[in-house]
Amino acid sequence: MAYEDVYRRSVEQPEQFWGEQAARIYWHRPPDRVLDYSHPPFRQWYAGGLTNLCYNAVDRHLADRAGQLALVTISTETNSSREFTYQQMHREVNAFAAVLQRLQVGEGDRVVIYMPNMAEAVFAMLACARIGAIHSVVFGGFAAHNLALRIDDAQPALLITADAGMRGGKVIAYKPLVDEACLQASAPPPHVLVVSRGLVDDMPWQEGRDVEYAGLREQCLDVEVPVTWLESNQPSYLLYTSGTTGKPKGVQRDVGGYAVALALSMETVFDVGPGQVMFSTSDVGWAVGHSYNVYGPLIIGATSLLYEGLPIQPDAGIWWSLCEQYRVRTMFSSPTAIRVLKKHDRRFISDRDLSSLRYLFLAGEPLDEPTAQWITGMLGKPVIDNYWQTETGWPALTLLPGLDMKPVRFGSPGFANLGYRMKIIDESTGKEVAANQKGVLVIQPPLPPGCMTTIWGDDARFLSSYFSHFKELLYSSLDWAIRDEDGYTFILGRTDDVINVAGHRLGTREIEESISGFPAVAEAAVIGVRDEIKGQVPVVFAILKQAGDGAAAVDAAEGMRARVVDQLGAVARPARVYVVNALPKTRSGKLLRRSLQALVEDRPTGDLSTLDDPGALDEIRRALARGA
Ligand code: ATP
Ligand code: MG
Repeated sequence: MAYEDVYRRSVEQPEQFWGEQAARIYWHRPPDRVLDYSHPPFRQWYAGGLTNLCYNAVDRHLADRAGQLALVTISTETNSSREFTYQQMHREVNAFAAVLQRLQVGEGDRVVIYMPNMAEAVFAMLACARIGAIHSVVFGGFAAHNLALRIDDAQPALLITADAGMRGGKVIAYKPLVDEACLQASAPPPHVLVVSRGLVDDMPWQEGRDVEYAGLREQCLDVEVPVTWLESNQPSYLLYTSGTTGKPKGVQRDVGGYAVALALSMETVFDVGPGQVMFSTSDVGWAVGHSYNVYGPLIIGATSLLYEGLPIQPDAGIWWSLCEQYRVRTMFSSPTAIRVLKKHDRRFISDRDLSSLRYLFLAGEPLDEPTAQWITGMLGKPVIDNYWQTETGWPALTLLPGLDMKPVRFGSPGFANLGYRMKIIDESTGKEVAANQKGVLVIQPPLPPGCMTTIWGDDARFLSSYFSHFKELLYSSLDWAIRDEDGYTFILGRTDDVINVAGHRLGTREIEESISGFPAVAEAAVIGVRDEIKGQVPVVFAILKQAGDGAAAVDAAEGMRARVVDQLGAVARPARVYVVNALPKTRSGKLLRRSLQALVEDRPTGDLSTLDDPGALDEIRRALARGA
């Protein structure tokens, strides 16, 4: 079916379109209304319908695919893999749900899950969904402080953790971090449930509060916990944004609309059907992990692979070996991960039988052309960039090979996904811009199913963060974009990061793209820095493929400047180029441009709670001290 036809219907007749899509999931009671938009921009999809995410992800498949693999977890940290059929998963999820009930967790209660990529993290999420508890998964790599902030926001009835996570062979004990977070939090949970993998000998233990999972599981195995049917718009979970532009926002998701949107996208975007295999390399703690490691593949009866470990451990071929071994059809990863693999021997890919693999989807940050070209050449299959946000819950811009496969255009995540009324708006006039004109990427509300319903406990922040930027009621993505004459959209950077050089507006992404095309450059970050004459000027931080002496760095800097001037014009000429060995990133691999800018302009760096490696900021400080 042609994308254009389906898309047009999805946005011009949304109630009919989404009314039909509702049949993709099981409803205990059908919705009264497809859409209730009586309080814009808040909207309710499938109002009055009763359903349950766990029932749709697990129970519904027992009739046809009880013996089929539902979940495979592979850990190159603990050197183990585990396989669960739908039947086995049903048993584990019921046991977990029974344990939750024994700990007095019920409908509407929040449960913080702070675990590595292991099967029990998935069971815990599904068990919460089963009994109507609201999970809030916190990425296991976060420090006690981040965890404490999220505990205070959610005020959970329970926190679930593991004894430890591992990274690069090193055991990172979680329990002491949890204890510290509970001390820092003003509303610590009454119970902490610990899933032990035997990685830690002496675990600190607080009698009365801490509970060991294994013993309770034994007692609860084969208990059947009835599904709690939820009204479609009740909260299913909370999940925080990455904190790239400031304090993370607690995104709240619903039940029915989310399930329908995921089921639709599994077919139309990811082209995965029941019984087929999807491998997303994400952590369960991110939006991709929620939607495409857990709920999406399971809701349609596919098999999901969950991976714990580095992409280069035991070697850079591990992911491709898994694709071969499990006959993966669709793989989903991030540009950062592919840039890591790019540094390794191509035989790690070329030696594998990847005949089952149809597509590689990449999301989360700009996919630079050299990386896209390299991985496309290596795989010989479409590499599909897709743009979304924690807020949207599923891709907003992408190609939809499940409908028809439009040609990939490097640098662009493609077209608006079904149901998304995406526009590019001029910041000052608030009007839609013409083709090839830059503007802010917005979604015309009502937001489609799957997108956030509000910020947890803070409707006012929801309105002010997303809906207060234009006279017209529009959801601002806070990203800057351009659409070409064929309808392909290109993301140019965050609206915060637009550089205004003597009245010319430049996206950081445009300049970064140009610089990363310079052969010596491995990665680059561009920021706008205050300038007395021009208002702002672009400043570059670049990592070179090969560390060279000072002269090599000077040559490379000259080359980068010349390339930018050649491609984007003299206004874009970088005022300074710093060659560095590391760039500050969030734990989810995103560039923390605002912290770079703060250092250069000698301002406080702001919220750094999601910064991955504090050493990267020291590296920048040293570079600034050395001079460009
Ligand atoms: P915060 O909102 O807390 O500042 P964040 O925006 O990084 O953090 P996420 O929801 O994880 O949090 O990331 C969404 C953002 O990532 C998008 O708004 C966009 O800036 C960027 N992004 C995601 N996918 C792509 C893509 N395919 N191309 C370019 N940018 C992307
Ligand atoms: Mg954001």
